[in-house]
Amino acid sequence: MKIFLWLFIPIFLFAVSVENGGVYPLEVSKDSVVKVDGKSIPLMRVKDKYVAFIAIPYKTKRKKICAKISTPKDKKEVCIHIKKGKYKKEFIKVANSKVHPDKKVLNRIYKEYKEAKKIYKTVNQKQYWDKPFILPLHSKITSAYGNARMFNHTLKSFHTGTDFRAKMKTPIKAINDGVVVIAKDRYYAGGSVVIDHGKGLYSCYYHLSKILVKKGQKVKRGEIVGLSGKSGRVSGPHLHFTIELYNNAVNPLEFVKRVNSIFD
Ligand SMILES: [Zn+2]
Repeated sequence: MKIFLWLFIPIFLFAVSVENGGVYPLEVSKDSVVKVDGKSIPLMRVKDKYVAFIAIPYKTKRKKICAKISTPKDKKEVCIHIKKGKYKKEFIKVANSKVHPDKKVLNRIYKEYKEAKKIYKTVNQKQYWDKPFILPLHSKITSAYGNARMFNHTLKSFHTGTDFRAKMKTPIKAINDGVVVIAKDRYYAGGSVVIDHGKGLYSCYYHLSKILVKKGQKVKRGEIVGLSGKSGRVSGPHLHFTIELYNNAVNPLEFVKRVNSIFD
């Protein structure tokens, strides 16, 4: 009889379909262990609920993603359908040196990339925030998350964040409480601030003209972390805002909307 207790019973959430690059908040009981592809998903405390945010990678060919949920009492599997996001193609003209960097620059880019990836893969067990999220500024979105990016007609990447119109020196706010883990100038991102919000969640603010926080510093929601600018690989001043969830650059506006709707 015991074997039955150890079977995962799949539950398909047919009503639920999430775009690649999106997130799905799976509400579970406090004593749940949630795993996707064998990897544990930390539970975040949102108001009075425990939520495992399932990140759908942007680059996935899968049709569904399943989470195994175990509690001391039972086990089940919840599957979410993945729909293909309707993302646009963007053609961007930048200085050639920023598209074909020389060896010294490539080394720097690689070092910065590795440093950031190591941070995004780190799941801090502490959760620093307990309030809804805010946006880093209120402004027009000039480039949406997920656009396929063609730099000088070469496909380089997809747009990993949301761009907001921001004239030079617009104050940029921390979207929630956390600890600063990056505060420096980088080749592509320019003046960069990255905040660890705990449990594998990070927010990133790029192209700043001035950084107003230091690495290791605790910040509160709404605190000004820097002033907007046009540093790094850009064609003009704006704020690039990214959310990294367990090393996936997910749709930041969708993430904020999903978390905040739990507070409502
Ligand atoms: Zn951007």
